[in-house]
Amino acid sequence: MALNKRPFFQPAASNQPAGPPGGHIWFTEYHSPASGITVRAEKTLFTGKSAFQEIVLLETEDYGRMLVLDGAIQTTERDEFVYHEMIVHVPLCAHPRPRRVLIVGGGDGGCVREALRHPEVERVTLVEIDGMVVELCRKFLPKIAGSLGDPRVELCIEDGVRFVKNHTRAFDVIIVDSTDPVNMASPLTRAPFFRAAKEALAPGGVYACQSQGPVFEARGMRRIARTIRKVFPDAAHYLASVPTYPGGMWSFALASKGGKRPAAASFAPSRPLPRGVKTRYYTPEIHRAAFALPRFVQEIIR
Ligand code: SAM
Repeated sequence: MALNKRPFFQPAASNQPAGPPGGHIWFTEYHSPASGITVRAEKTLFTGKSAFQEIVLLETEDYGRMLVLDGAIQTTERDEFVYHEMIVHVPLCAHPRPRRVLIVGGGDGGCVREALRHPEVERVTLVEIDGMVVELCRKFLPKIAGSLGDPRVELCIEDGVRFVKNHTRAFDVIIVDSTDPVNMASPLTRAPFFRAAKEALAPGGVYACQSQGPVFEARGMRRIARTIRKVFPDAAHYLASVPTYPGGMWSFALASKGGKRPAAASFAPSRPLPRGVKTRYYTPEIHRAAFALPRFVQEIIR
């Protein structure tokens, strides 16, 4: 998810392996000046700029359709299930009865889709600052954004920082699925926002957010871990393997309003996935195991 360091479209060089007829392009996201991920795309579905960021949608050969914001891969049809299942089902299974869910960011619709799979959920409020992301994902990523029209979804195109300040004890679960903590996303990992989010949670509420990657963004992850614990003392981190994210390993934070450790932070979901919900990554065993951190990650968040 690192910001790009160089122009990211390079014409196919002659020494590239033969691709489909009609040529192709190579997209690279640099995770550091010396390494990154490169994918070959058959075509560019969209490229443009909103008031907030540069938006690109690619038809890639290996990962299907891909959303890129400011040069950073956000989600791909091939591996989005990992991230969206883990950022949604861990907090929702940690909460005994999640009825009102707030998702900040998440304009691709993946978190909304997963939250709606819980029949207990009566309303999902999605607060996405960039309406252009929502419209483009609805158009080009229907497999991910297809649930945004569900009657239980309330879509607000506004800054999540402002939205959360105007709500008190209103949500059972808050999930922050934002871009890198820079620009408009920067306040989402600072203490004032965490405090406002805690106020916006109902008693017993659960908070979850993406907390950067331990391989290339250890400093950012450490800062988020230290800051969230100032507001949510019981905050715990968990991991998932996301192939298209820097280092292939991504972290999340989970915390509870009550101050007592949320069930998931004690490595056990407080309730199983609803009957009939088929997942491809999340399982109750993965839920517990995800909180078992490798030593180098423990040292980052100590
Ligand atoms: N799943 C992806 C990931 O982890 O990289 C991110 C999904 S989604 C595309 C991230 C969204 O956060 C973007 O659409 C961006 O516009 C939105 N966002 C960033 N800052 C925001 C803010 N302050 N309020 C609401 N949405 C915000």
